[in-house]
Amino acid sequence: MKIICIGRNYSDHVRELNNQIPEEPVIFMKPDSALLRNNEAFYIPDFSNDLHFECELIIRVNRLGKNIEKRFANRYYDEIGLGVDFTARDLQNKLREKGLPWEKAKGFDRSAVISSEFILKEQLPDLNSIKFQLKKNGEVVQDGDSAYMLFPLDEIISQVSKYFTLKIGDLIYTGTPAGVGPVAIGDRLEGFLEGTKMFDFEVK
Ligand code: ZN
Repeated sequence: MKIICIGRNYSDHVRELNNQIPEEPVIFMKPDSALLRNNEAFYIPDFSNDLHFECELIIRVNRLGKNIEKRFANRYYDEIGLGVDFTARDLQNKLREKGLPWEKAKGFDRSAVISSEFILKEQLPDLNSIKFQLKKNGEVVQDGDSAYMLFPLDEIISQVSKYFTLKIGDLIYTGTPAGVGPVAIGDRLEGFLEGTKMFDFEVK
């Protein structure tokens, strides 16, 4: 199983980090050891002083596929989950300045929060406008809508599968909207997908 992540997929988030709007999806990966499930606590690693949350919709692949055409991409997933792509922003910026890969800043242990439950596509009111929220200590910090993705879900699947064969169980984190920010010890993060609570955990 692999975890594929899309970066810079909402223009408001691209702007808040002063990045360029990408012409193709920005793709990176996390190892399976990054997964954090079942509302377990997230422990801030000691190599970062600026650990950011990024709340993201997650696709779980349910069919083997390679070079998938956009018009067939919706056959490759039937449910959507919610997660957090934890990012050591200080380390990421340092690596980027040197032109080095991001893995240490993005793929470390427990950096990929995933909801225990996924929601079936048919149960979502509009697949082209999936609404999700992240609350930090009870306050909404990210308010996402997939309608504002630069590369929508089917486009992501098509683009990713040009480079990587998709296998059953692979996860795709689809990028974060604006509002990313740091976490501190004692914070509580709650994620909602179309109003349904998907995760609720503490930062330690
Ligand atoms: Zn992300």
